[in-house]
Amino acid sequence: MFDISPNIPIQELKSALLSVNNVQLFILRDDLLHSEVSGNKWRKLKYNIESAKALKSDAIVTFGGAFSNHIAATAAAGRIFNIKTHGVIRGEELKLLNPTLQKAQADGMTFSFVARSDYQNKELMVGFDDILNQFEAPFIIPEGGGNNNGVKGCSEIIPNDFNFDLCVLACGTGGTMAGVVSALKTGQSVLGFPVLKNASFLFDDIRAFLKPFDSLLGSWSLNLDYHVGGYAKKNNDLIQFIKLFYRKHNLKLDPIYTGKAMFGLLDLIKKGKFKNQKILFIHTGGLQGINGFEDRYKVTLFD
Ligand SMILES: *Cc1c(COP(=O)(O)O)cnc(C)c1O
Repeated sequence: MFDISPNIPIQELKSALLSVNNVQLFILRDDLLHSEVSGNKWRKLKYNIESAKALKSDAIVTFGGAFSNHIAATAAAGRIFNIKTHGVIRGEELKLLNPTLQKAQADGMTFSFVARSDYQNKELMVGFDDILNQFEAPFIIPEGGGNNNGVKGCSEIIPNDFNFDLCVLACGTGGTMAGVVSALKTGQSVLGFPVLKNASFLFDDIRAFLKPFDSLLGSWSLNLDYHVGGYAKKNNDLIQFIKLFYRKHNLKLDPIYTGKAMFGLLDLIKKGKFKNQKILFIHTGGLQGINGFEDRYKVTLFD
């Protein structure tokens, strides 16, 4: 019931840069998992929804920013699996809902808007009890789906029958990365590109996510150099890169996550950091956020 689309394509990318360095680069199209609940956000919801159903919860309550992929995915999953959803949204109530929240509302999600200062301490926030009291048995999922259920779902991203040396992906909370690390075989490693500034806290967070796993076969590392100014920030190089990548490979990257990670990876390959390797890049999805990003920055990524 909870598997939406188990056959995810893996495509090889070809370019002169890759062949000079003898790098084989494949992209796992987890963005194609589902048209509305795309990529890693579905992976993270899978066991959470299963738990909510098993506990006979009447609603899922979760958290996110106004453009959040997790909010969009939770709302759509709630509609599909017939469970109420409530989003606690960071920031003042918007007069006009942005495209992400409009779609979430159409999927049946209700919202509470909380000031950024209250939001810091989510579970203790002022008014949180009132939010929970609207429901009989609410099931709480942390921001971005970052709990053990989420990590477990992400361990299913890596296909069993595909070999690679290095796996590359974008990191927000690091939950997806932890799931992928837990699924590695001996000799394999994962490189994560955090999209937040000052993301060295992720080393500890990922270690904490990995605690429940007793034997890890692979290794992992983070490269903190490609956040482009911070979460949802942009610069001209990133925008040009995403446009060119689309023209060249006919493949859309999102500007918040996958665009930064692919930009970082190809830049490091250009600098000669990876040679003679077979690399698997995870396209974690996030394409729903493109409209909101284009509105905010008055840019067009794909024409
Ligand atoms: C949320 C998200 C990520 C980051 O996932 P974490 O598990 O929080 O690190 C990466 N890519 C996309 C497209 C996302 O929506």
